[in-house]
Amino acid sequence: MAEFSLRPEDEAARALARRLAVEIVEPVARAADADRRFPREAVDALARHGVLGAPVAKEYGGLGWDSMQTALLYEEIGRVDQSVRGFLTVHLALVAQCLAASASAAQRAEWLPRLARGEVLGAYALTERDAGSDAAALATRAVPDGPGAWRLHGEKVWITNGLSAGLFIVFATVDPALKHKGVTAFLVRGDAPGLARERMPGVELGHRASEHAILRFEGVGVTEADVIGRIGDGFGVAMGGLDHGRLGVAAGAVGLLQACLDLVTDFARSRRQFGKRIGDFQMVQERIADLACDTEAARLLTWKAAWMAVRNEKRTREVSMAKLFATEAACRWSAEAVMLHGSRGYVNERPVERHFRDAQGLRIYEGTSLVQRIVIAREILGREVAAPSPDNSRGFA
Ligand SMILES: Cc1cc2nc3c(=O)[nH]c(=O)nc-3n(C[C@H](O)[C@H](O)[C@H](O)COP(=O)(O)OP(=O)(O)OC[C@H]3O[C@@H](n4cnc5c(N)ncnc54)[C@H](O)[C@@H]3O)c2cc1C
Repeated sequence: MAEFSLRPEDEAARALARRLAVEIVEPVARAADADRRFPREAVDALARHGVLGAPVAKEYGGLGWDSMQTALLYEEIGRVDQSVRGFLTVHLALVAQCLAASASAAQRAEWLPRLARGEVLGAYALTERDAGSDAAALATRAVPDGPGAWRLHGEKVWITNGLSAGLFIVFATVDPALKHKGVTAFLVRGDAPGLARERMPGVELGHRASEHAILRFEGVGVTEADVIGRIGDGFGVAMGGLDHGRLGVAAGAVGLLQACLDLVTDFARSRRQFGKRIGDFQMVQERIADLACDTEAARLLTWKAAWMAVRNEKRTREVSMAKLFATEAACRWSAEAVMLHGSRGYVNERPVERHFRDAQGLRIYEGTSLVQRIVIAREILGREVAAPSPDNSRGFA
């Protein structure tokens, strides 16, 4: 029989995450968004409660949470703010879990305790101006510089946590002719000579309290000790990180949907027009019922993908399904939530307008909604065995 109840340890993780979201993140979310300021003090406070090492093994100083507990953390933080939830998903899923899965024992021992304590923040640098969805087309070069040493040259864009990070996972190619087989993942320290960072130009639509940076690598020195896995393994490392990261985005979208449902329900109970609560009008009721159904469906897809992750099952299709459904629903329903609040939804005195803006980012990063459909269809159809195309092993970011 299928089992839908949470374990006691999940309930405990959810209760802690809810408390931290309400006590630490929610009070600063609106001002941080308005000021376009990364709320470092809130992040440091989260670190003091251990959640910057939530999925990190206890032997490295983490909480040792599994993917279900960590998904609940993203859901609860995402219920109040996507900028901090986005910070957390990059730090935990794309960096800490990526290192736990692919790094050497020495790399794990050096970095996981520092990441878990929040002493060092992590960032994941894959995207370039000409390599977004087609991540294998990246042009950042690792040029040999003596035995077992390279110099990195190139530029990355849109790197979340990019201004504060003390540790970057940087994807570069040792030979562009090898396409994805030349991509290699390197650990780069934040203070590495030759690394320059600056804020992305323009004002983002949402996630305005996140840091989005341009990174420039001008001869940054790396050695064999900084390679994650082996030379040429980088594409697999990147895609492995995205399996964790996309689950985090899906869970964040579930939180955003729940927030919209809560806000719309409260407003529909209190706002009166034509002598009635607006919640007594059937068209408003239809919206609330459909929003509740989509929230539950998004949560079930996400929890199923998290459950598969706990069981260490292959879950690329399920994670993409969860991300696609949850983030598209978040875009649809945050727009409806603004409309259902009338003029009150149009100003930042209530969080619905921020949820509406933030939702748009969810269906772009870690693979757009179109890319998730490509991943899902490819998992269903399988690859053509008889006549493989030259680049049929490419992944999509
Ligand atoms: C808020 C935010 C945070 C981010 N954080 C990070 C980060 O921390 N690290 C990082 O490395 N990157 C980050 N990114 C970058 C993000 O991952 C890319 O923006 C994303 O992968 C899409 O790439 P692109 O923007 O170049 O769009 P493009 O790849 O140029 O896509 C443009 C359009 O074409 C469509 N398209 C592309 N290829 C196909 C295809 N084969 N079939 C059908 N349609 C296609 C896309 O779906 C999209 O609609 C972030 C982006 C944002 C907005």
